[in-house]
Amino acid sequence: MVYWHATARNATYDSHYSARALPVEAKMTTTTTSSTQTFDTLNPATSEVIATFPVCGEADVAATVARAEGAARWWAELSWKDRQRRLLAWKSHVIRYIGRLAELVHTETGKPLADAQLEILLAVVHIDWAARNAHRVLRPRRVRPGLVAFNQAATLEYQPLGVVGVIGPWNYPVFTPMGSIAYALAAGNAVVFKPSELTPAVGGWLVSSFAEVVPEQPVLQLVTGFGPTGDALARSAVSKIAFTGSAATAKKVMAACATNLTPLVAECGGKDAFLVGADADLDAAADACAWGAMSNAGQTCIGVERVYVVDDVYHTFLEKLTERVTSVRPGEDREADYGPMTMPSQIEVIENHIADAVARGGQAIIGGMASVRKPYVGPVILADVPEDSKAVTEETFGPTLTISRVADLTEGVALANASRYGLGGTVFSRNKRAAMNAARSLRSGMTAVNGVVSFAGIPSLPFGGSGDSGFGRIHGADGLREFARPKAIARQRMKPMVNLTSFGRTDEDMKRLLGLATLLHGRRYKK
Ligand code: NAD
Repeated sequence: MVYWHATARNATYDSHYSARALPVEAKMTTTTTSSTQTFDTLNPATSEVIATFPVCGEADVAATVARAEGAARWWAELSWKDRQRRLLAWKSHVIRYIGRLAELVHTETGKPLADAQLEILLAVVHIDWAARNAHRVLRPRRVRPGLVAFNQAATLEYQPLGVVGVIGPWNYPVFTPMGSIAYALAAGNAVVFKPSELTPAVGGWLVSSFAEVVPEQPVLQLVTGFGPTGDALARSAVSKIAFTGSAATAKKVMAACATNLTPLVAECGGKDAFLVGADADLDAAADACAWGAMSNAGQTCIGVERVYVVDDVYHTFLEKLTERVTSVRPGEDREADYGPMTMPSQIEVIENHIADAVARGGQAIIGGMASVRKPYVGPVILADVPEDSKAVTEETFGPTLTISRVADLTEGVALANASRYGLGGTVFSRNKRAAMNAARSLRSGMTAVNGVVSFAGIPSLPFGGSGDSGFGRIHGADGLREFARPKAIARQRMKPMVNLTSFGRTDEDMKRLLGLATLLHGRRYKK
C-alpha cells in the first residue's frame, strides 16, 4: 500500500492524507507497510475526514521496534551535549511552526486554537527542561561507600533503557505524550510512539518534525492504529512502556507488558478535587474553578471534577462560580471558550452521570441534561449530589462539576481522598500553613495552591498519580530517571583491611568485623 509519507528520511510513519493536505511539512514518498487496513481521523466539530492512516499490525510494530534498536544505540552513543543540541533544535522547530501544529491540534481535537497554542507552549517548556537537565540528573556521580567499604569507589549512573514505547491519549495530543517522549529521548532512548486513533495526525507531525532536525536515524518513530496496535507495542521488544490513558486500558496494557516483564509507567485518569477554604480569595477561586472544570470541554485528566467548599463561604462562592460559568460557551467559532467533545462516546458517559446525579437528589444549578447538544456539551454544575453517585466517584471527563459544602478543609480533604483516583487537586486558602497542610494531606501526586493545574507547567516537578490514576512519574528529575536504568559500580581502590568475600576469611577477621559493627551500629538509641 502506498502512503503519503509525512516524515523525513528513515522515519517510518506512512500516512495517506486526503486531498486537503495537512499543514505538515512533509515529503512525498512511496514507502510501503505490510498493513492493508486504514482508518480515518475526523474533525470532531464537522465530522470531516482529516486524513487516513494505516492500522499497524504486529509485524509493522515489530519491524519499527527493530529499527528503533539501531537508532537507540546511535542516540545513546552521542554525547550529552549532542543530544541536548538536537533536542533544543527540535524545541525551536516546534515553536517556529507552532501556528501549523496548533491548527492541526484544533482540527483534530476541536479545542480552541489558543488552547492548542498553550498546550504546545507547555510541551516546549518540558522539551527544554529535559534537554538541559538530563546530564545533571543522570550523569555518573561518586557516592559515599560507607565506613565498612571505605576501600571502594562507589559510582552511580543512569543509563538509557533502549527503546521506549509511548502510548498516548487524544485530549492533549502534544503536551501529554511529550511528558514521556521528551524525557525518554533526553535520557538517551529511542521512542516508538503510538498516538491515540483520534489524533494520529498530531502524532505524525511530532514525529515528522523530529525527523527534520534528527534525520540521521529513526530515533522517534510512529505507529498508528487502535487498541491492538498499542497491545502489539506493549508485547514487543521495547524496554519500557509509557502509557497515558484510562485506568481500564492501563490494566490491559499492564497484562500485555507482563508477557516480557516489560516495565510500565501508567498515567491514568483522575477525579480531582478543588477545596475552597473560608479565607480563600473567592473571586480568584471561582475563576480558577470554572476554567479548571470547563476548559477543553472538561477533557482534562487533572481537570476539576469535585468541588468542596467550606460552609461559611459556600453560597458566596457558588454565586461567583455560577456568574463566571454563565458566560462560558462551547462552539467551533473563534470566540468559543471550548470545543466539541473529541470522543463522541464520552457524551454517553456524561449524560449517564448527570442523569444519575439528578435521579439521586442532585440539583442542577447550571445546565443539566439539556446541556448535551452533540457534539457539544454546555457547562453543568451539580449541587447536593450524594458522595456515592457516579458523578462523584467516576471520571466524567466533561464540562461538569459537583459542588458540596464541608465544615472545614479537613473534611474536604477526607472527602477528596475517598476516591480510588489520586492524580491532582487544588486548595484555595489565604492561610499558607492551612493550605500547605491540606495540599500535603491530599492523596494525590500533585496539588495546586491558589491556582489550578499550575504544577503541570513547572517542568522540575514530577507528574503522576496513585491508585486508579496510575503509577510512576513523568516530568522533572523523577521523569528522567523513569526512563533510565540505575547502574551501580563499586571499584576497589585499595585492599580491604579484612577480606570478607574470600574463603580465606578467618574467625579473627569476623571478630574484628563484628567489633566494628557494634561500634558503628550497636549504640543504644533513646526512643
Ligand atoms: P484510552 O485508555 O481509551 O486510550 C489511550 C491509548 O491506549 C490510545 O492510544 C489507545 O489506542 C490505546 N489502547 C487502547 N486499548 C489498548 C490496549 N488494549 N493495549 C494498548 N493500548 C491500547 O484513553 P483515551 O480515551 O485516549 O484518553 C482519555 C483518558 O486518558 C482519560 O481517562 C484521561 O484522564 C487519561 N489521561 C491521563 C493523563 C495523565 O497524565 N494522567 C493525561 C491525559 C489523559
